[in-house]
Amino acid sequence: MNPRPRSPSFSRSLLVWFKKNARDLPWRRTKDPYKIWISEVMLQQTTVNAVIPYYERWVKEFPSVQAVARAPIQRILKSWQGLGYYSRARNLHRAAKTICGEFGGRIPADAEALRTLPGFGPYTVGAVLSIAFNQRQPIIDANVRRVMMRQFALHGHADTSQDKKILEFLDRVMPHANLNLFNQALMELGALVCRNREPLCIVCPVRGSCQAYAKGLQEVIPEVKKKVLQDVSVVIALIEKNGKYFIQKRPPRGLFADLWEFPGGKIEPGESPQGALARELREELSVEMEEGRPLFRVKQFYTQFRADLHVWQCLLRSSPKTDSTHKWVRPSEFSRYPMPSGSARIVDRLLKTN
Ligand code: SF4
Repeated sequence: MNPRPRSPSFSRSLLVWFKKNARDLPWRRTKDPYKIWISEVMLQQTTVNAVIPYYERWVKEFPSVQAVARAPIQRILKSWQGLGYYSRARNLHRAAKTICGEFGGRIPADAEALRTLPGFGPYTVGAVLSIAFNQRQPIIDANVRRVMMRQFALHGHADTSQDKKILEFLDRVMPHANLNLFNQALMELGALVCRNREPLCIVCPVRGSCQAYAKGLQEVIPEVKKKVLQDVSVVIALIEKNGKYFIQKRPPRGLFADLWEFPGGKIEPGESPQGALARELREELSVEMEEGRPLFRVKQFYTQFRADLHVWQCLLRSSPKTDSTHKWVRPSEFSRYPMPSGSARIVDRLLKTN
């Protein structure tokens, strides 16, 4: 008969291990629901090491939910710059306004109320309620999903199609005390021991109940999904006038919504960078290019694609129109404008040469 995790031994072993091995992370030193919420949103789709400096800067700049609600969206997006998935920052901002407007500035300790807030899906609701308010709420992130799939030898890819079964299993193994620690412990086990590749079963505190380990399947559960990244070539125009550069704001919906960037766009198949540049300038800004010169290239990875950015210096026949979404900006002012990572790297190069 296959070994089955049972609540008391599974959770006890896990919690003993967590108390000894938990990493000292800045958001684990607080009980403030606001800070726990911020950390949980940042940690979605982003690694712990990448999040730490962002979290520390954020809580200094916005020490309370009121500070987030008061800040203009541009400042919020600027502080988020580089973390990606900017809809998370926009939702944080909207949720902070609702919390201040409708909940007296306090994050509600109630699942139904939390679900009404922008960006509060099942994971965030469960994380805030369990970690900040010690409620018995199961949560499933990539780490938890992998640990549970291995514990119960669930075959298939690690995606949400597994979650119904995982929730039933979690209910079986979740304790009735130390709830704020249990979810964190399970996620930590996935991050440090039950890793995606080369799980460290030999030091695993819940090895005794692990069906994948018992069957020697820990390396093949879950099945690996091959991620195919699309390659995209983009041409970027650096247009300079009197020491200022021309930048434009992206539309409020879609990829990199509301962020600022240099003009430019995709190089279509069969098109030269110069041809694409002239076309984009005509289409986007209604201006003709007089002269263009390649400056440098930047390779940037995004979640869904790999971009090869061809950066060109451009001379135009006439000046593009300016308005609230099209501006001339000095290099020293770039720090006010939130930008996608590729544009931010171009700015870094510019600042080094200015
Ligand atoms: S025994 Fe291995 S596969 Fe099973 S939960 Fe522990 S680390 Fe993961």
